[in-house]
Amino acid sequence: MKKKDVLSVKNLSKIYSKNNSGTINALNNLNLDVKQGEIFGLLGPNGAGKSTFINILGGIVIKTSGNVNVWGYDIDKDPRQVRASLGIVPQELNLDPFFNPRRLLELHAGMYGIKKEDRITDEILRLVSLEKNAESYARSLSGGMKRRLLIAKALVNKPPILILDEPTAGVDVELRKNLWENVKLLNKIGVTIILTTHYLIEAEQMCDRIGILSKGNLVALDTTKNLINKIQTKTVTFTINQKTKIDKIPLKSLKIISQTDDKLTLSYEKNNLKIDEIISYFSNKNIIILDISTDDADIEDVYTNLTKN
Ligand code: ADP
Repeated sequence: MKKKDVLSVKNLSKIYSKNNSGTINALNNLNLDVKQGEIFGLLGPNGAGKSTFINILGGIVIKTSGNVNVWGYDIDKDPRQVRASLGIVPQELNLDPFFNPRRLLELHAGMYGIKKEDRITDEILRLVSLEKNAESYARSLSGGMKRRLLIAKALVNKPPILILDEPTAGVDVELRKNLWENVKLLNKIGVTIILTTHYLIEAEQMCDRIGILSKGNLVALDTTKNLINKIQTKTVTFTINQKTKIDKIPLKSLKIISQTDDKLTLSYEKNNLKIDEIISYFSNKNIIILDISTDDADIEDVYTNLTKN
């Protein structure tokens, strides 16, 4: 394991046996490393194996084979140290409705055997922006606040790695931004973040690197930037000075997607054609370009491409 990897997974497999018959390969020879200080996103459709992976890290599911090393500890040899290095924020908003955030964190710290003077309850409450709600019953908190309280709970023993399982599930759109800001803040103070999400746009905005799981296989693992760069097809809309219909543009890989009034939407493969060539073509034909807008590919395109089969 390189010094900077805080999580190292080698040939990790999980085979579940079904009650009635047969087996299911929930994880197939998974290999991945998470580096210190990064925000790593694990994406994948339902049934991809994300929960299985998180549950193996959390010690809830026993792997079939392979190696997992967390913060320098081997999951087979030092399971307790592995657990102590991870703060896992579960998907379900399972909180006792009659506890307030402060009491919940204090109780949790007690469970970890953290002495009163060593507790960082106020600091955690501030980190997740719940200091003003420290004394409110959990049942009166919004979905976003509940989620932040679960994050707070996972921070009680100051783990260097925080795992968030579908952190925005059950959180209103407007509160998500707030939640992400808190996660970014935690990352800024040095906590390595691993998250799973269905919301591709969020993964794109939040994550330094992304791994995409499909049916137990890691079908992509790269920086968010590289993944987006892998998309070959570009779409561009030109606003031009004429309304005559353009039927064909004889340039390699270029397709006319639509033409309405003075707007012409084209697609092209970026390793076959550069946008300059399209612009020169127009200028040679005395077509004046009034405006150009590009519709950049996003992680959603990579994702659909990789997981469609
Ligand atoms: P995800 O979290 O990405 O939706 P899961 O890890 O929950 O995926 O599931 C991966 C696969 O393993 C699925 O096909 C699922 O049905 C199966 N699976 C998950 N848990 C069990 C289990 N306890 N017993 C049998 N099969 C399971």
